[in-house]
Amino acid sequence: MAAKTVSQLVQMLERGEITSVEIVTEYLKAIDEHKDLNAYITVTHETALQQAKESDMRRKEGKPKSKFDGIPIAIKDNICTKGVLTTCASGILQNFIPPYSATAYQKLLDAGFILLGKTNLDEFAMGSTTETSFFGPTKNPVDTTKVPGGSSGGSAAAVAADMAPVALGSDTGGSIRQPASFCGVVGIKPTYGRVSRYGLVAFASSLDQIGTFAHTVKDAASVLAVISGIDERDATSINKPVDFDSTTVTGNIKGLRIGVPREYFNGVNEAIVTAVKDVLKKLESQGAVIREISLQYTDYAVPIYYLIATAEASSNLARYDGVRYGYRSKNIQKLNDLYVKTRQEGFGKEVKRRIILGTFALSSGYYDAYYLKALKGRRLIIDDFTKAFSQCDCIVAPVTTTTAFGIGEKISDPLSLYMADILTIQANLAGIPGLSVPVAKDAHGLPIGVQIMAQHFNEKVMLNVAQAVEECVTL
Ligand code: GLN
Repeated sequence: MAAKTVSQLVQMLERGEITSVEIVTEYLKAIDEHKDLNAYITVTHETALQQAKESDMRRKEGKPKSKFDGIPIAIKDNICTKGVLTTCASGILQNFIPPYSATAYQKLLDAGFILLGKTNLDEFAMGSTTETSFFGPTKNPVDTTKVPGGSSGGSAAAVAADMAPVALGSDTGGSIRQPASFCGVVGIKPTYGRVSRYGLVAFASSLDQIGTFAHTVKDAASVLAVISGIDERDATSINKPVDFDSTTVTGNIKGLRIGVPREYFNGVNEAIVTAVKDVLKKLESQGAVIREISLQYTDYAVPIYYLIATAEASSNLARYDGVRYGYRSKNIQKLNDLYVKTRQEGFGKEVKRRIILGTFALSSGYYDAYYLKALKGRRLIIDDFTKAFSQCDCIVAPVTTTTAFGIGEKISDPLSLYMADILTIQANLAGIPGLSVPVAKDAHGLPIGVQIMAQHFNEKVMLNVAQAVEECVTL
């Protein structure tokens, strides 16, 4: 099977050149062959093949659920899939089988997509390397000594190694864009409120968004369109028309004003700076107007994010108490042991660090000094983007300061990992859409992505620019 993009597979299915069973079989084979990458926590072999058979029947009868009927997909293991293990890569949820499905997943099922399995992540999506997973790290398919990025490292690796044509991830501070960049695939974080968070296990509720990974901008956009839209089960989802899909992605950027934030180049590896500048030149030659802009609070983004994200996490993760669901310690003498030992044994080190940090930031006497101050800083960042978007239609910048680094290289230095999020977290704090599209490789052959951001609910423009980028680079 030479095809690997969703649109090619759809075409082949429509022409009757391939069956869903054949497609699913190929991907399951690839998953087996790449077990060493540890991209999947759960593989749904039997149900995937069964669903593929049913899909083929529907097509035969001329009644596909949508044009995507029979296309397989991988889903990050913090998105609830009814009846299928959903662990968040945490010991505390290692046996959790959700009795309901996330809205995003349900929408995929309704469109006829087929679940291949659940992908690895940093525990509760806290991290940027996929090394904090209870199930061990995922390896980067481009160079297996490197991390795939994170927290959606399993989804990025699955697409990069052709173990799925498309995948869902979640992005709270960069967890789709950064692994997409490290693995050389497209990754989109939509506007906050674009995709329902119902059934996405909460990390930091005011920042979390579900998005897509794929080989091409059009694929990632078209599947994102399927999962987008208001949902009565998520009060933060917003009723805006979904005005993009693969057909709106034209790549026409004539006259478009592109802002380049000068602060986004500080401390960035030379190969990445060169790659972004090359792309900007090409976009200019296609008629875009490039102008320098300033995002003056960039240096404050990391402390602001790590106060807000940990505060929200400490509250969200209070539910894992050994009473309602999830892991329960065997070692209980008195009631208090139930909570203390369950949480002590069930959570990993990074998750505990964040719960403690967040609890501290919210505690009486410190709330005003830390949490409230961070909220005020967040407001300044939002205003800064509003100002920036009065001068440009979209922003183009690096995604990360480095290309993929070695497994084990940074994991013992959490602060340096937190600092490395500097270029992705502002989009989450402001709630705007952002994506990463692969543009080049460094001297070691490691992928480099370019980040594109746009105004709230302006995915359409962002995707057009991404398409123009995709068309002008040779990889
Ligand atoms: N790396 C960031 C963190 O550790 C972002 C994670 C994410 O987006 N889920 O919090």
